[in-house]
Amino acid sequence: MDFAFDNSFHDAMPGFYAPAEAAKPSAPTLLIFNHALADRLGIDAAGVSDAQLARIFSGEEMPGGANPLALAYAGHQFGHFSPQLGDGRALLLGEIVAPDGARFDVQLKGSGPTPFSRNGDGKAAIGPVLREFLVSEAMAAMGIATTRALAAVATGDRVQREQAHPGAVLTRIASSHIRVGTFQFFAAHFGADHVVQLSDYAVRRHFPELAEAANTHLALLDRVIGLQCDLVASWLGVGFIHGVMNTDNVAISGETIDYGPCAFMDRFAVNTVFSSIDANGRYSYGRQPQILHWNMARFAEALLPAIHAVRPDDVEEAKALANAIPERFRTAWFARMRAKLGLTQPGDGDAELIDGLFDQLETHQVDFTLFFRALAMLLRGEGDMLQALLPAPDAMAPWIAEWWALIEREPAGPLECADAMDRVNPLYIPRNHLVEAALADAEAGDMTAWRELLDVVRQPFVPRSEWEAFARPAPEGFGPYTTFC
Ligand code: AMP
Ligand code: MG
Ligand code: MG
Repeated sequence: MDFAFDNSFHDAMPGFYAPAEAAKPSAPTLLIFNHALADRLGIDAAGVSDAQLARIFSGEEMPGGANPLALAYAGHQFGHFSPQLGDGRALLLGEIVAPDGARFDVQLKGSGPTPFSRNGDGKAAIGPVLREFLVSEAMAAMGIATTRALAAVATGDRVQREQAHPGAVLTRIASSHIRVGTFQFFAAHFGADHVVQLSDYAVRRHFPELAEAANTHLALLDRVIGLQCDLVASWLGVGFIHGVMNTDNVAISGETIDYGPCAFMDRFAVNTVFSSIDANGRYSYGRQPQILHWNMARFAEALLPAIHAVRPDDVEEAKALANAIPERFRTAWFARMRAKLGLTQPGDGDAELIDGLFDQLETHQVDFTLFFRALAMLLRGEGDMLQALLPAPDAMAPWIAEWWALIEREPAGPLECADAMDRVNPLYIPRNHLVEAALADAEAGDMTAWRELLDVVRQPFVPRSEWEAFARPAPEGFGPYTTFC
């Protein structure tokens, strides 16, 4: 198998990583390979046997041209600074350049200890690996910026967590693995020169058009803030709760990264938390915009030595950028919400309508995903779906009337608005009860339900009669639901 690696981080950034090796799995077997993604990346896997894919994507066999390494990073975890984290259970094999010129990292996650493992075993259990595969594919299908999953391989080894689980390795594809925490590591331990070097690399790799800016580091801050505002707005739009928005889990590329205890909300409740390790709700659904702001303030701090080195006065500009985040987020969020509601342009009354919606959804405990599909059905003259979601027929009547008045202002007719809504509002998401059942079967050796769920969430927008069960809200009595990393 030929990857045609072109390892720019390895070659240009010595000192920013530690070389590392994969552990030998005892009996690697392929769980799934993402052929569509391989095609997009220009990886020719056509004639490659499952057995060989399993050897390569478990770390048993290093492909030619790989320079396996673990990246150094730091990070604020639940608000507290950890000066030394790094890839404790991940191995960057190298970078490939896709046929369209886009560059991607190929990384194994769960392939054994690295110099950054601290007390960890460097391994991953099959459940979290298959959860990340499924949810990241769902996010990609919904048009949300995300890392991707190329392969999952069972290692044949047991991994000890609260109990022993089958081990697995995920192959993650990312625009890069540079995180806010990567900047924090070099700011904390090495100072301005290293931050400048990292920032220059990130700009060359992700945003080459910023290289001409008067202060490229300030321009990088501005761009990353914009991408993160869009990202978190897109999460809120589909009811996604990342679960561990630590600064080491925030990618400079603007991609969703590190799917741990993440989950999608069923009935709308702004304080929803699923993660077993988030006792105080720091990373609840509704706090994600505030945490985005906090994380970007930490990014600004880490970049300050570099920004200052170019032009001391730009430090004030950086502070102004950080202070403007709530405003910027709100703009991104409103754009997203207008699209979900079938509104194509800003206009009088839409802010009140959007703000007012969430109280209504919470009061009436409405399924967040299905609500927007039900509104589109209403535009088509079919109110049954909405009725089924509400506790009483007229529960949201005043809000619906206000929304309808704004729809009438639209240049397009209601049917066109409904179709546009269905293109942005998913019908099928990885619902907690379905994910849990699929992962339990997979852990017991039966991948059938997981594969079917993957098929469904890869086509989230178009209804199919045979998938009716996948669109239903959580069954009565399901929950409270808790996720683990
Ligand atoms: P996370 O909470 O998954 O983002 O991980 C936080 C840090 O812990 C990162 O540096 C990870 O590489 C590291 N880590 C998590 N799980 C393990 C593990 N099983 N073995 C070694 N390091 C780990
Ligand atoms: Mg992480
Ligand atoms: Mg993790």
